Amino acid sequence: MEPLRDSFGREISSLRVSVTDKCNFRCTYCMPAEGLEWLRRDEILSFEEIQRLVEVMAAMGVGEVRLTGGEPLVRRELPELVRMLAATPGVDDLSLTTNGVLLDRLAAPLVEAGLRRVNVSLDSLSHVRFAEITRRDALDAVLRGLAAAEQHPELRPIKVNCVAVKGFTEEEVPALAELARRKPYVVRFIEFMPLDADEAWRGDKVLSGAEIRAIVEEHWPLVEIPAKASSTARRFRFADGAGELGFVNPVSEPFCSTCDRIRLTADGQLRTCLFSRREWDFKTPLRDGASDEELAALVRHAVAHKELKHRITDPGFVRASRSMSQIGG
Ligand code: SAM
Repeated sequence: MEPLRDSFGREISSLRVSVTDKCNFRCTYCMPAEGLEWLRRDEILSFEEIQRLVEVMAAMGVGEVRLTGGEPLVRRELPELVRMLAATPGVDDLSLTTNGVLLDRLAAPLVEAGLRRVNVSLDSLSHVRFAEITRRDALDAVLRGLAAAEQHPELRPIKVNCVAVKGFTEEEVPALAELARRKPYVVRFIEFMPLDADEAWRGDKVLSGAEIRAIVEEHWPLVEIPAKASSTARRFRFADGAGELGFVNPVSEPFCSTCDRIRLTADGQLRTCLFSRREWDFKTPLRDGASDEELAALVRHAVAHKELKHRITDPGFVRASRSMSQIGG
């Protein structure tokens, strides 16, 4: 089949699937303390509906599938979905992004079902500051989750993602860098984006990848590792050979020109950019009995309208129509 290309020639090969909008954390850069209005159960795609859409897209060359949310591990029976997607023809890279709090008990069934990669979000290694940013006292549970992931050599690489917020993260950098040196985790710093439901984001709250690198290099020199063109992260290894760091710099060094991603929300809306103002409804056609060919044509139509780039730093920037936990980060 013709590969899936947008109108700027970018080939789409990666899909983020949000399996729920609910989360058991309330990270300050993502969700309000009181949570959000959750989707109703009947609004959320079933595993069969998700699998069908993934199958249609995988046949068009979308081989990389990442499960996310909300918090994907709060969706019941998630290993069953992993099993279904791992067996879907064309899906050759199946991964999960999680806050890690339930990973302790779910790592084994997820691996058994076919999961091969995991990203765990972790913003601080101090109990007090972890609770401050996530509004949950759960650092020990997340560290147990990471340790459980580590027990499974099939699950590699293990990536640890930290959202870098100015005035908070500077203090966390040495301990997180040290974690990357001591453990088989690739620690990655992600610039804070205007996707927080509280709308508290401001340009001066972004701690850039370059600023973090400078903090790390006060302790340990780094050497850049060449990354593949579509990679979101700039990769660095410690010069003495102990471990790897990544920097995802969507604000200071946008990588839209090589973006190969689309996103499916928990309620079956396809988004062609994190910052989209427009979504493409797949739940209705799915439930109205659309054929695979009709679904594929709709995917092509949506992708043809993929945005050229985000406009975070442009004057008059308009925020996305939903916040990060509702989109699926
Ligand atoms: N609950 C899961 C987790 O914690 O990884 C998956 C969903 S979460 C929305 C996915 C990723 O988005 C996490 O790494 C999170 O830290 C990141 N994120 C959330 N809000 C963000 C923001 N405003 N800017 C940058 N990254 C953000």
